[in-house]
Formats: sequence, structure tokens, C-alpha cells
Amino acid sequence: MTLARLRYPSESMRGRRYPEPPHPYRSEFQRDRDRIVHARAFRRLEDKTQVFGERLSDHFRNRLTHTIEVSQIARTVASVLSLDEDFTEALALAHDIGHPPFAHAGEEELNRQMQAFGESFDHNLNALHLVESFELRYARFPGLNLTFEVREGMVKHSRDFEPGERPEFDEYLPGLRPPLEAQLIDLADEVAYNTADLDDGYAAGLFTMDEIAAAVPHYGELTAEIEQQFPAAPEKVRFQEVLRRLIDLLVSGLIEGTAASVASSGAQALEDIRRLPRLVRLSPGAGETNRALKRFLFEMVYSTPLLLEERRRACEGVSALFNFYLAQPDELPESHRARMEELPLHRVVCDYIAGMTDGYFRRTAARLLG
Ligand code: MG
Repeated sequence: MTLARLRYPSESMRGRRYPEPPHPYRSEFQRDRDRIVHARAFRRLEDKTQVFGERLSDHFRNRLTHTIEVSQIARTVASVLSLDEDFTEALALAHDIGHPPFAHAGEEELNRQMQAFGESFDHNLNALHLVESFELRYARFPGLNLTFEVREGMVKHSRDFEPGERPEFDEYLPGLRPPLEAQLIDLADEVAYNTADLDDGYAAGLFTMDEIAAAVPHYGELTAEIEQQFPAAPEKVRFQEVLRRLIDLLVSGLIEGTAASVASSGAQALEDIRRLPRLVRLSPGAGETNRALKRFLFEMVYSTPLLLEERRRACEGVSALFNFYLAQPDELPESHRARMEELPLHRVVCDYIAGMTDGYFRRTAARLLG
């Protein structure tokens, strides 16, 4: 199942914005991975909500543990398919660093606030700003000076854009698909969060194993297999046994589906990958399970009163703090006030709030808004 011929060719690397000498024992993608791990924005993922806020439990995923799960899945797939595992790992670790506090609620609310000024908030663009300028770790350049390849993969991790569609991404080959290593991230992300949300939702008591089996193809068969093998095991343990097999089924489906679609596309080299539609996909069976799982989670987790209430509070909070800073920009920290010389106030406020962790946001809001 090797796709070694389509592994990102390191000789065609466009490299870094500010040239740097090669490292004696780390590849360029390994260095990018290490720079991401050492970035502040990466550490802040620890206190950013994935789906369930910290009020609900202290052993559910946060955005950092989710990121580690995505990286583990993406690396497995890259390694089985003989793609560049380090490139994939760097992209997986970076895929969520542009997320504001309070998950999608925070993102939606920042976007809503920016739309009042004819602008928008986008976490992919925010991620690019973080690694290009907000991180200050080097004396010779702003940001992390990541390779072009990793920056391109970051801005295209979940969707493509056509020439002229996103002027701020013009440099990143609009109209062309990213390498397979970058295409992998989107589905590795989906497999990771669907199975994790199933795990956390079950632990939160939002549904039973029977309800999953009735809605998700293959789940019933996996459950029957486990019940036969471990009839005396407590339900919570059987749930975990089934969950492991479900992850395995989806990851195997991602490997097989991608290998099959690449084979039928006839792609021989990176140029083909760039011009053809995205080729990373789940096998038909795994795709069916994944879609059903998504629908199930939407109904049983994301739209439950518990989470809708969390989301409403988050939106209200973000809106209140955003408007507080618009009215009293003097309350912004000095380094952010300095940016007002070049940027409109709403942009400065948006970037500041987007960088906050959930905890820092709560403490700031409590201090300023009571
Ligand atoms: Mg993610």
C-alpha cells in the first residue's frame, strides 16, 4: 500500500522565508515540528475547550489532548502509506493553534463581531498570523520561520481556495491542492474528534451503547463481538473495547480508502496530487460509519441543552469583552495598544481575545466586567 512515489519530495522544498543553515541531525520538517511544540500558542491549547468545557469534567479532551490524538492517527496513516511522517506530524500539531477560547462558539462570536466591521475571523488565518508574527522567539526574524510547506498545509488543512478568493493566502498556490501529508490532516482530525466525542459523550451519560448501535453501522457488530469475548466485563470496559475497535476501523478505512483513490486517480507525482481533486478519503464502509457517527453526535451531543447552554454563555462572554475593549481600549495590554498605530481597534481586540485561553478569558472578564 505504499505511496512512496507521492511522498513530499524534500528536494522540491521551497523552504523558509528567512534562510537558515541546515541542522546537523534534524530534518527541516522535524525542526518545524519542534518549533511548533515550543510555541506559546501550542501550550495554550491546554486550556482551550475542545467540545466539553472544564465545568463539565476534568478528564474530557481539551484542544491539546485532541491535537495529540490527531497527530497519533495522522502519523500512523502517513507511516503505513510511506508518506513523510515528520511533515504530517508538524501539520497535525499545528492544525488547531489558531483556535480562540471556547471552541466553535468563540470562533463564531468573534466572526460575528468582526462582520459588524465588514471583516471576519478565521482560525486558519489566525494560525498563520501566530506562526508568522505573533510568536517572538528569534532575534533575526518575527514568528517561527516555518517552511513554506508547513504554512501552506496549515492554511489549506480543511479547504482549498481559488485564485483571488483569499487575497491574504495568495502566496500559497491558490487553485492547487496541498501535498497528501497535508490532505491527511482533515480526516485524521475528523476520526479523532468523532471517536473522542463519542467517548466523552458516553462518559457524560448523554446516551447508551444500544443507542449508538441503533444509529451507527458496524457498531452493533463490534459490540456483539466484545460481549461474546468478555461477557463478565463491566459495561464501561466493554465500551472502551468497542471504541478502540471503532478507531481502528476508521483509521484502517482512511488508509485503505486513500490508497484506493490514489491508485484509481493514476497520480504519479506531486504535480498530479496538486492538480487532481483531494485524494485522501475513507473507504466506503468506514465513510458510512463516520457519517452516521457525525449525525449521531450532532443530535445526542452537540445540540443537547447542556452544550447549547455552554455555547450561549461563551458567545455572550466573548461579545461582552469584545465590546468592552472597543469602548475602553486603554484597558488593553501595552503590547496590544501599540498595534493600534497600524491596525483598526477591532482587529487588535479580535487578535487579543483569539489568543486567550478559556481560563485567562474568564479571569479577564471577571476582573473587567464583574
Ligand atoms: Mg481539530
